[in-house]
Amino acid sequence: MVSRVIPVEVFDLVIFGGTGDLARRKILPGLYRRYLAGQMPEGARIIGCARAELDDAGFRAIAGQAVTEFVDERKRDPVVLGRFLESLHYVPIDATGDGGWNRLRGLVRKDVVTAFYFSVAPGLFGALAERLHKHGIATAESRIVVEKPFGRDLATARELNAVLASHFAERQIYRIDHYLGKETVQNLMAVRFANLLFEPLWNHQYVDHVQITVAETVGVGGRGAYYDKSGAMRDMVQNHMMQLLCLIAMEPPYRFDPDAVRDEKLKVIKALRPVPPENIVRGQYRGKPRNGGPAEPAYSVDAENPDSLTESYIALKVEVANWRWMGTPFYLRTGKKLRARTSEIAIVFKEPPHSIFGDGQGWRENVLAIRLQPNEGMNLSVMIKEPGPGGMRLTEVPLDMSFAEALGPEGADIPDAYERLIMDVIRGNQTLFMRGDEVEAAWAWADPIISGWESRGDKPKGYDPGSSGPEDALMLLHRDGRRWREIRE
Ligand code: NAP
Repeated sequence: MVSRVIPVEVFDLVIFGGTGDLARRKILPGLYRRYLAGQMPEGARIIGCARAELDDAGFRAIAGQAVTEFVDERKRDPVVLGRFLESLHYVPIDATGDGGWNRLRGLVRKDVVTAFYFSVAPGLFGALAERLHKHGIATAESRIVVEKPFGRDLATARELNAVLASHFAERQIYRIDHYLGKETVQNLMAVRFANLLFEPLWNHQYVDHVQITVAETVGVGGRGAYYDKSGAMRDMVQNHMMQLLCLIAMEPPYRFDPDAVRDEKLKVIKALRPVPPENIVRGQYRGKPRNGGPAEPAYSVDAENPDSLTESYIALKVEVANWRWMGTPFYLRTGKKLRARTSEIAIVFKEPPHSIFGDGQGWRENVLAIRLQPNEGMNLSVMIKEPGPGGMRLTEVPLDMSFAEALGPEGADIPDAYERLIMDVIRGNQTLFMRGDEVEAAWAWADPIISGWESRGDKPKGYDPGSSGPEDALMLLHRDGRRWREIRE
């Protein structure tokens, strides 16, 4: 299978925060990989901005180092890298000051696609938006890319939307959620809407429940103090997991068009029921060695807050109150320091109404499992007859679609979410970016859940590093006669 790489138009991409962690780990390596793939046209330019007093050579050195560190060795070609680095420039700018903007205006061309990536703390988004206008750098066609977190509640998200809207139209604003840039997430839409096979079954009549798991093995380590102000609900559920839930639950959009898709996602968020306390389990990891390993600090130590009530784990039972999904719960869970690093969506189908093969056959439900990481792919478990002369005994086999295996080298070579999303910005395609009203609706759902446990002073339950989370999370499903899928890589 030959992958098609369609070059994008010539562009100027300005990265505010071009020397930061995200730029070095994701944005610059991603752009290099697109350059290597032939997707970046000759003449495209990347302009880094930050307060540090660097020149072009200094920024190129940082970018070169980032590529060496974060791009797979097989993809590092010194000649290509040299050419790529020539397209990089740097202008020292303080987002809150007025120096440097004239130089930037002189550099950014008016006759090519212009995009401004706000890879700085959200507190600076407003200052950047305002100065891009004041100094005549952004045009009505320019695009801005804004990073997460997009607010910490409905009020702050509204404020942020209002600040951006005072300088940019919604069609110019690209709110990044890198989960939406994952190949499998887009494949979820292809599987649902390009095949007749699943859609008739995709409702409460045939789907027993849905599980969405995002498990990490790492703790909050070096960014504990920052994380402690957020917690798993704000950091993962309100944004990433909500987006995944929407893609599973939404109605078919009339077209694969940014607003058509986002309209349908918005309807799902609005249909979410408030979540009562008994359908929420929050946890905090304990300070225990993992599997006989060395001692590990507890969450409260990592967070530098002995009295912290912030959750490093959360599980929720969520209900989508509409005709398609009423009665089919969506169980969401995410946490730090769990058994394995994995992100998975599992659509668990109902059992047939009557087993003609009798009981005791080791019956398992059909499950469509969509893996986001590691090894992006899909797997449908089906029951077949156990081979051999042992009579009609049933066994479960996977119909496996690992992209790496099914699509050959191109399947293994899936572009990283960031590089795909940046190319979408240049193409002007907002389908995989969150619209302002979507973000606000998600906060409107999350806010009362968070303020509920805050006002009750709920304490998160302890769980051991390397486990599947707190015991109570198991009960969340057990009491419904269900069980979580195993967390494994
Ligand atoms: P970071 O490592 O702290 O980098 C911040 C960047 O902003 C640096 O280049 C810094 O350079 C620049 N900067 C700071 N103050 C500035 C100012 N007043 N004017 C102009 N530039 C300024 O942060 P990061 O981790 O890259 O995160 C950037 C954004 O991405 C944040 O919104 C974050 O929430 C989001 N994000 C990051 C990650 C990640 O993995 N890192 C993941 C998801 C989202 P100078 O100090 O030289 O100015």
